[in-house]
Amino acid sequence: MTDRYAVFGNPIRHSKSPFIHGQFAAFTQESLAYEAILAPIDSFEASLTTFFNAGGKGANVTVPFKEQAFALCDSISPEAKLAGAVNALTLLPDGTIRGDNTDGLGLVADLIANLGSLHDKKVLLIGAGGAARGCILPLLNAGIAQLTISNRTHSKAQGLVDIFIAVNDGAYASKVSVIQMSELTGEFDIIINSTSASLAGELPSVPARIITTQTVCYDMMYGASMTAFNQWALSQGAAKVIDGLGMLVGQAAKSFTLWRGVEPDTQVVLSLLRDKLMAEPKL
Ligand code: NDP
Repeated sequence: MTDRYAVFGNPIRHSKSPFIHGQFAAFTQESLAYEAILAPIDSFEASLTTFFNAGGKGANVTVPFKEQAFALCDSISPEAKLAGAVNALTLLPDGTIRGDNTDGLGLVADLIANLGSLHDKKVLLIGAGGAARGCILPLLNAGIAQLTISNRTHSKAQGLVDIFIAVNDGAYASKVSVIQMSELTGEFDIIINSTSASLAGELPSVPARIITTQTVCYDMMYGASMTAFNQWALSQGAAKVIDGLGMLVGQAAKSFTLWRGVEPDTQVVLSLLRDKLMAEPKL
């Protein structure tokens, strides 16, 4: 029987995951089926149980079920534990479910693909939501020199860092700090926008002085056209801007490797996905 995988979300119609995993499977010659499943808002657990009982081997989870998925796992990875959210579920041979959060790993893989080593980079992370939470440990594990977090609601960023430091028994404490957006100055090699402001075509209220001609800006959002944040960063003289499509492919690749034990080529699939996105009718 063909191994089955799926992505669960609500809504799910526009998910790129079936395309990405279909390409990974084709390129690596893995025999599997991957589908998108629309789980009713109030019965994610029941949908997931039905899927696993019918032979499902693993699943990705997207909005709004990542926290619910976390609560359903028998074991979880360190990244997922810190994020408090899970985007990849694996049915283990003993029948238990393992939860991983591959979003931050996907981000780091995409940054490295674009910039090379992240060693000694000073990084600013704007935002303190679910996506930001999952990125802190992978960024620090990648060897960055300093991680500064700034969020519209300052107390949320502070809370995030306090939890991170407590969970890690103080490890990395000297490398992570929180700052009010209005107090930011231009001293960052990489600026990552993890806010959902771009979804509404808005900008986080960060001062233009943080962008220098050396700064690389990364917006986790992706789409057929350039995001509002990346447009703004370029207009302020940023050296380079990158959108979140590579992170999306990167997190999928980490899930694929967890499930199948092989590493797919992300760059060729990213290129195919970008072409597909450009060709899709604009709504
Ligand atoms: P959350 O809802 O958990 O967090 C939203 C964050 O954005 C909060 O920090 C919030 O600040 C901030 N925010 C929202 N609107 C504004 C605004 N107008 N100005 C400043 N800050 C704002 O969202 P997620 O963390 O789950 O997702 C964030 C983004 O990351 C989305 O665009 C999502 O599409 C993208 N993403 C991309 C992925 C990829 O693979 N490329 C994977 C996961 C997410 P406050 O605390 O003050 O409310």
